[in-house]
Amino acid sequence: MEIDSSPESVVLSHYDLIIQRLLRLGIPRDKLNQGQHGLVAFAKSNRLNIGELVSAILPTDGEEVDEDVFHESMIWLQWLMFEGDPEEALENLAKMSANQRGVCGAVWGNNDIAYRCRTCEHDPTCAICVPCFENGNHKDHDYSVIYTGGGCCDCGDITAWKREGFCSNHKGAEQIQPLPKHFAESLGPILDLLLNYWKEKLLSAKIVSEESPRVVGHAGELQKAAKELTSTVVEMLLDFCKHSESLLSFISQRVYSSAGLLDILLRAERFIMNGGVVGKLHELLLKMLSEPIFKYEFAKVFVHYYPTIVNAAISEGSDAAFKKYPLLSTFSVQILTVPTLTPRLVEEMNLLGVLLQCLGNVFIYCAGEDGRLQGHYVLGSSRVQMKVDQTAVYSVLTFDLDETCGYKDPNVCDPMTLVPPE
Ligand SMILES: [Zn+2]
Ligand SMILES: [Zn+2]
Ligand SMILES: [Zn+2]
Repeated sequence: MEIDSSPESVVLSHYDLIIQRLLRLGIPRDKLNQGQHGLVAFAKSNRLNIGELVSAILPTDGEEVDEDVFHESMIWLQWLMFEGDPEEALENLAKMSANQRGVCGAVWGNNDIAYRCRTCEHDPTCAICVPCFENGNHKDHDYSVIYTGGGCCDCGDITAWKREGFCSNHKGAEQIQPLPKHFAESLGPILDLLLNYWKEKLLSAKIVSEESPRVVGHAGELQKAAKELTSTVVEMLLDFCKHSESLLSFISQRVYSSAGLLDILLRAERFIMNGGVVGKLHELLLKMLSEPIFKYEFAKVFVHYYPTIVNAAISEGSDAAFKKYPLLSTFSVQILTVPTLTPRLVEEMNLLGVLLQCLGNVFIYCAGEDGRLQGHYVLGSSRVQMKVDQTAVYSVLTFDLDETCGYKDPNVCDPMTLVPPE
């Protein structure tokens, strides 16, 4: 007969579960009694298998997932990342880079106030935030106040804004110092393992969402885990980025170097059914765009993902897909307006072919039985036009469309903007 030694089953906290797993790894109890402090002290003086350590800190598959479980894990991981109190380390990093910020990168919501300056901007989608305008010198410039529809401040970004128009706090991305070596060495391996774990969880959630649109039971748990983990990791990384641009640049390098991660992060809006979490994820991605190589790697994945959303809009027969999946509208102006980037994408990623294919699909959808474009339309907003605005792509596209579509016929939609006839 089996005797249950603890008739009143004890519900262990997430903290206790981590301690149990660390004990099983052979870490002495007296060290673990000192919490994260003890673990770091032990890890420093003993060669521990870092993979096993990180696995023990992250929840196991069977563990119940709520918002606290990943939060608890992140506290432990941060202690290991910084080999000490993470708050202290972040404060020190912030002090190191005080007064020498490279870029602003303030992220806007809908209808936030910003400034355009036609004298300083490289294209009309560029803008800077109010503090950056006030701390800069735009005397006798051609500027105006605008309401933003999202996006981020371009101050410090030489691809968007003239150097003379940078404010006194932002000196350009090349000013950003690399992360001190000892931080990079302790943070790198743990961050890589965490990013990989995140990718795996997102992939599982993506697979179950594709198998069945109505996710229940185990599948629902996988989606919930992906959502909670994304929320926690993004919040942590945003906090890191807020403290230090060196850290932001370091993180962005690790993200684009992790094979397949960017791809799944871009697609996450399709299966993480929570606008708040997706919005935060996009905020992090926007911040990381200040790292030029990240921007290039992101852009390549973006071009790859682009047709998915346009085709979703076509199959839904409305542009609601652009609201439901906001990545395209948030990032197109960040990517397809950069003069140093767009020609590379045209050459290396067949950007022009991708855009034309998308437009082709729109027109096929709009065509009547006689093969001519009809009065109805798919993309009610000027989304497609906006994406190619100000680029070589736009002029080629509109030239081709002008030649082939006869859009001045009042009975057909105007392919320049895809606005329906009045
Ligand atoms: Zn700014
Ligand atoms: Zn600034
Ligand atoms: Zn100006």
